[in-house]
Amino acid sequence: MTGRPGAYVHVPYCAHRCTYCSFVAVTGRETEQPYFDAVVREARSRAGEVVGPFDTVYFGGGTPSYAEPSNLARVLAALREAFGVAAGAEVTAEANPDDLDDRRLSALVDLGVNRLSIGVQSLSDGELEPLERRHDASGALGALRRAVARGLRVSADLMIGIPGQSRESLRRSLGTILAAGVRHVSVYLLEIEKAPRLVAMREASPGMFAGDEEMVARWELVDDLCTSEGLTRYETSNWARDGEESRHNLKYWRREPVVALGVSASSFDGVTRRTNSGSIPAYLQAVGTTGTAFVSEETLPVAEALRESVFLGLRESAGVTEADFERAVETLSGSDRARLEDAFAAGLLCRWGGRVRLTRPGVLMSNEVFSALL
Ligand code: SF4
Repeated sequence: MTGRPGAYVHVPYCAHRCTYCSFVAVTGRETEQPYFDAVVREARSRAGEVVGPFDTVYFGGGTPSYAEPSNLARVLAALREAFGVAAGAEVTAEANPDDLDDRRLSALVDLGVNRLSIGVQSLSDGELEPLERRHDASGALGALRRAVARGLRVSADLMIGIPGQSRESLRRSLGTILAAGVRHVSVYLLEIEKAPRLVAMREASPGMFAGDEEMVARWELVDDLCTSEGLTRYETSNWARDGEESRHNLKYWRREPVVALGVSASSFDGVTRRTNSGSIPAYLQAVGTTGTAFVSEETLPVAEALRESVFLGLRESAGVTEADFERAVETLSGSDRARLEDAFAAGLLCRWGGRVRLTRPGVLMSNEVFSALL
């Protein structure tokens, strides 16, 4: 185990439900005060669970920027008290562009947030509409510019596969985001299947949706444009300028400890994963009674933990050491070993500089490679 632990805080409130949302989130803020009371209590009861101080704190959601900043401040104070938060820690909040007026930005900066992960998704109004995002393109661009001007580290989320999107519109969105001074970009593929409105749209107008080859071309466009603008792909879905990588998310890919608070949050101490209740009423009740809200716990057997380390490590562009890779391979069945050999032969995996990595085609076929390890 290396590095200091991080803290994750789930903030499950949103002003409006996006079409494609699969996160644990509710609309409205009726339970916000008792919820944050419970998160503070949970932080205090779990003091000493890992050796602090935290060097990253991540408010995820939901929409943390929609909650009262004073509530985020209370949680941060409780984390400082219970575990410590290192000087210079990376403190990230996920944010909806519409929340980021000057007042809210000042409040977030004042409470100690120094990095924002802003859910832009697209800078085309015609693409934002079917997603039912609450911001429009000009609002999102204004928010990015204000956040960058404040000196915050800014990451923008962008989506591939939005109905009506074209390679040209994607290039425009990404180019404008980068020109605004954003130094970290996360790119996700829109998952249609769980969104009934999008499934119905695809049935009515299949031409608005990209096929597999087009999705690959769009991902390559993102990779090329980010690279040409000085953002390196450091993980399968994330590009950053040097030093702008998400230190918090790197902890997940490196199996480093994260204490996770709030509804549905999943903690890892380096060995065991423990997950909180996914229902707000059940979470409130459990924390009110016992101070914690764990509903499940999993410790992987050694061989599975080895394979998981390699699977997660391969998500990073730096890959994993050959020694770690070989140790994981030794735990596989003959047929899975053969599948990995095929992945090398097909140019999806490569050995270079004592490490094993996914190649660029390998990133696009990473599920094939990972399925041999899991
Ligand atoms: S902002 Fe995020 S969490 Fe909230 S509804 Fe939209 S996709 Fe879901």
